[in-house]
Amino acid sequence: MSVTVRVPAKVNVQLAVGAARPDGFHDLANVFLAVGLYDEVTVTEADELRVTCEGPDAAEVPLDRTNLAARAVLALAERHGRAPAVHVHIAKDIPVAGGMAGGSADGAGALVACDALWGTGASRDELLEICAGLGSDVPFSLVGGAALGTGRGERLTPLEVGGTFHWVFAVADGGLSTPAVYGEFDRLARGREIPGPVASADLLAALAKGDAHALAATLTNDLQPAALSLRPSLADTLAAGRAAGALAGLVSGSGPTTAFLVPDEETGARVAEALLASGTCRAARTAAAPAAGAAVV
Ligand code: ATP
Repeated sequence: MSVTVRVPAKVNVQLAVGAARPDGFHDLANVFLAVGLYDEVTVTEADELRVTCEGPDAAEVPLDRTNLAARAVLALAERHGRAPAVHVHIAKDIPVAGGMAGGSADGAGALVACDALWGTGASRDELLEICAGLGSDVPFSLVGGAALGTGRGERLTPLEVGGTFHWVFAVADGGLSTPAVYGEFDRLARGREIPGPVASADLLAALAKGDAHALAATLTNDLQPAALSLRPSLADTLAAGRAAGALAGLVSGSGPTTAFLVPDEETGARVAEALLASGTCRAARTAAAPAAGAAVV
């Protein structure tokens, strides 16, 4: 028997980062929006835990127990006193190490898939608790839609979204390590007073209204200077997308994927083509938001 779960990628429409806490984490005001680029996670009963992956970036995905999907299987199995005996297959379409929470998506996907396969009947709260233990972005991959994440980003408040937003994502060559980007943020912040992170009221209103122009005017990512410092060529990608007709562009999360908000699907196709032609990215993908969270297909 097998169960397949589809899980979306995310873009951070606002990522406000506070000063480093004593535990090294940063307090965040993180406005997540799930976008229609998906990984599919299939779990099948097997003799022992095994992970396989297919897709253009499959070679960069670890297949051992550090894979977030494997960690999710182990966490659920341990809680319910059963053997983690499944084959997890990931059909990966979300860029790897791209700041789009691809690994988190696979963790949430494997969790929902095993819950269904084993008939565990875990409550939503229990699943969310396991997700939070796996990583800051994993709970959002489970719920999808749009949400404000506070704390390390894992405490979620669902947000209203009043329409469809169209996006183009420029996939860069190679990833950027999230801890390295936070390290660079800390280095750039040295000697400066960092205000506590607060969600922008204008941005939340633009989301609720489904107003792409208003959202474009309020997109912010406090990690962007750090990502640009580590990967200066991203400035060329941002300039190319804006010149091609995007309403706004920003680094997605810790990067190096860049995200462009466009007024409609047709403009999205044009911007994607222009980004590719500019030679400043490896691939350009279009997607609509909001997308639903992890769901059995
Ligand atoms: P985020 O946006 O949450 O910061 P990301 O999109 O930048 O994450 P991921 O694709 O989640 O990055 O991968 C980051 C690293 O995590 C990878 O380089 C890889 O070593 C590891 N990893 C663990 N599990 C997975 C997985 N299932 N898919 C991809 N990478 C994984």
